[in-house]
Amino acid sequence: MASEKTFYLETFGCQMNVHDSEKVVGTLISQGYRQVESVEEAGLVLYNTCSIRDKAEQKVFHRLTDFRKLERQGKKFGVLGCVAQQEGQKIFERAPHVSLVCGSASYRNLPQMLVQLEAGKRAAGLDDRQTTETFETEFTARTNPHRGYITIIEGCDKFCAFCVVPYTRGRERSRTSDAILAEACQMADSGYTEVQLLGQNVNSYHDPLGKKSFSELLAAVGEVEGLKRVRFTTSHPIDFTRDIVDAIDSVPALCDHVHLPVQSGSTRVLEAMQREYTCEDYLQRISWIKTARRQISITTDIIVGFPGETEAEFEETLSLLDQVGYDGTFSFKYSPRPSTPAQAMADSVPETEKARRLAILQEHQKQIQARLSRGYVGQTLEVMVEGKNTARGQLIGRTSQNKTLNFTVTAGNPQPVPGSYVRVHVTASFPNSLLGEMVG
Ligand code: SAM
Ligand code: SF4
Repeated sequence: MASEKTFYLETFGCQMNVHDSEKVVGTLISQGYRQVESVEEAGLVLYNTCSIRDKAEQKVFHRLTDFRKLERQGKKFGVLGCVAQQEGQKIFERAPHVSLVCGSASYRNLPQMLVQLEAGKRAAGLDDRQTTETFETEFTARTNPHRGYITIIEGCDKFCAFCVVPYTRGRERSRTSDAILAEACQMADSGYTEVQLLGQNVNSYHDPLGKKSFSELLAAVGEVEGLKRVRFTTSHPIDFTRDIVDAIDSVPALCDHVHLPVQSGSTRVLEAMQREYTCEDYLQRISWIKTARRQISITTDIIVGFPGETEAEFEETLSLLDQVGYDGTFSFKYSPRPSTPAQAMADSVPETEKARRLAILQEHQKQIQARLSRGYVGQTLEVMVEGKNTARGQLIGRTSQNKTLNFTVTAGNPQPVPGSYVRVHVTASFPNSLLGEMVG
């Protein structure tokens, strides 16, 4: 190690990765390490990687090659997360200056691995994907003092044809409801008012204690004193049950937002994707959400250009966007991923056609969002203050429906601080945000 025990950690990918990194940072600090802001200052350089799309592994190898010369300065390198799990021992072969390769299912063994590193040895955590244990730690270095994540379920057993996650994060395993509620209470005691329950598929949550279903857990977290907002992501449509909507309707702290990835509007494509639901099943879930007493916003994920997707099937996805009226979508061009069933299918939609479909879909969705956003003008909504946009003289707020609502404060009134909740009157709308003025 260069001098004192210092580390630099860079994170790529989803909220799960971001939160894993908060736990990894906490673990390293508890082992006597100090976090630094740059590779130059660090003795140990860590990358928490994502391999969900594109050529993620190639990017990681390029980065590692760039760092080779830094080995002479005594720095050590580690690869964590999905690319670490996917490429495994190959990383040591292609980048011999790497000392640590660790998939997310092995993070709970990090303290022992750090001891090995300090003794000048290599450490690998790659053999835990079948574990039933979760990463329980009391050391979580949360970066935001007001809103924070809580993992409730790790891994995934769904094996959608396009997705690498079950191969990189391992089998599904839930934390106990007791551990989750204890963490939620501890966060509330430390001043957090918003928590987000995380998992690749939160609604297949299965309490090892047998005490709570997902919706009961959700309601219980929503009733923790001090918590004003509880969110959850991601939901898989097949496991999304009506009692989740009932919980949102009856527990005020549960936010008015459901992220329900559909992936395609064509039942034929959904079947090829091994998603386990038809378009009709999906629309049934949407109708439960839409008939709730509260106005719940709905967002989704979509993949265009899945092997064999025809123009007509793509158009079915566009129709679904109209039918549901999503408040937001995350849309992606299909990219073949190692180990997945879809990789063996001919990647039949040319890259230019995928790009064309993606652009059409995003433009279509933009029009829908612009129309839905206009419906908020004139309403008064509560926001959590997230920060400031100094250039525009605006504050940035987030609504319960997970919409960005930027706002101004009338001259002479005190500026609310980040983390506080204020009411904002909406005066203008854009496809991706709202604009307003603080009330009172
Ligand atoms: N568990 C979530 C679910 O079932 O919807 C999704 C988790 S995944 C990290 C997030 C999104 O990435 C997916 O919903 C999908 O739209 C997208 N995605 C996953 N694999 C992909 C691939 N091979 N090509 C393009 N997009 C992909
Ligand atoms: Fe991937 Fe499907 Fe699991 Fe989501 S449910 S993580 S898309 S395999």
